[in-house]
Amino acid sequence: MTQQPEAVAGRPVAVPIYQTAIFAFDDPAALAAAMTGPDGAFAYSGYSNPTVRAFEEAIAELEGGAAALATNAGMAAINAVLLATLRQGDHVLAQRALYGGTVGVLTDLAERWGVEVDHVRGDDPEELRAALRPTTRLLYLETIANPTGFVPDLPALTAVAKAAGVTTVVDNTFATPLLCRPLDHGADVVVHSATKYLGGHHDVVGGVAVFADAERHRAAWSQAIRLGAIADPFASWLVLRGMKTLSLRVRRQCATAAVLADWLAAHPAVEAVHHPGLPSHESHPVAARLLDGYGGTLAFDVTGGMEEAHAVLRRLRVMLNAGSLGGTETVVMHPATTSHRHMDDAALRAAGIGPNTIRIAVGIEEPDELWADLEQALKTIRADG
Ligand SMILES: *Cc1c(COP(=O)(O)O)cnc(C)c1O
Repeated sequence: MTQQPEAVAGRPVAVPIYQTAIFAFDDPAALAAAMTGPDGAFAYSGYSNPTVRAFEEAIAELEGGAAALATNAGMAAINAVLLATLRQGDHVLAQRALYGGTVGVLTDLAERWGVEVDHVRGDDPEELRAALRPTTRLLYLETIANPTGFVPDLPALTAVAKAAGVTTVVDNTFATPLLCRPLDHGADVVVHSATKYLGGHHDVVGGVAVFADAERHRAAWSQAIRLGAIADPFASWLVLRGMKTLSLRVRRQCATAAVLADWLAAHPAVEAVHHPGLPSHESHPVAARLLDGYGGTLAFDVTGGMEEAHAVLRRLRVMLNAGSLGGTETVVMHPATTSHRHMDDAALRAAGIGPNTIRIAVGIEEPDELWADLEQALKTIRADG
């Protein structure tokens, strides 16, 4: 029996899923050449694959990068970039408010692999300059931090890093290239959890790193192969499909988040709202300068403590109590006991997260429907206390 792919005359409009592990060549020298780098012909889908490459080219274009590396999770992209850049004795400076999984990687690098890690707030280039050491190798930032919406001053910080020969890596998951392109502000590498806004439908786990230059791309590609972290064709296809509606979804999510932030700020059972679009937010001036929209995620502090926050979450009917974010369905969670459970009370306070903080990652539902859901859930708080 022979099985051969059909040759087709017209060009496919949607990118096909190349669900094949290997590619055969007539010329052994061509196979050998295909295995040597990230940009060559396709040989093995554990190295690269046409569907995966289509995703990489799409995100590289959106971010304004030279090349991209798609991985099987956001954490895989972060690990591939960090491990490709760092060696024992190197010093890392990281923004204080960081995604929990990234905190875990940096802690592990510090405790077991001889990398030193310090933190900066991320809004003051002088603080960064003072924290630099001769061994500082990498600056790690997030465009919009979770869940409080802190926004670091990217151009001011990357200028200091660049002058010191330090590589800047920016996690752009919360902003997406629609709201900010960190490479335009001097970053060297951008990482994403494609699980979130890029995929956008809560149906795929994936990640990607985008590079300003080919050299860092090649190093991270080699590292990702060693980790077994290259994205698979079907996941890449789902992300490509999601990316077709990225701008429709993100614009809508930003608009709805802004409306909910305003409504929540005026609600008697709400103590505080955290969203960089609000003029009262500490990052509002930086966000207004750097972002083309304030993001689809917000957080608020309900009057009371953890019990009240959990009571609100239990009563929500439309909003789903779930992790992740950036999909078509609105999800809510209690950061202190989920995403940020590893932090003690002092660290939580320093990060601006209370026992009464609730995060909302807005989907694409009608804003009125979401507000009605929040209002009925918040009624318990007014009645009880
Ligand atoms: C979810 C997330 C990650 C990790 O991505 P996975 O796809 O879950 O591995 C990294 N950074 C940020 C900001 C995230 O929200």
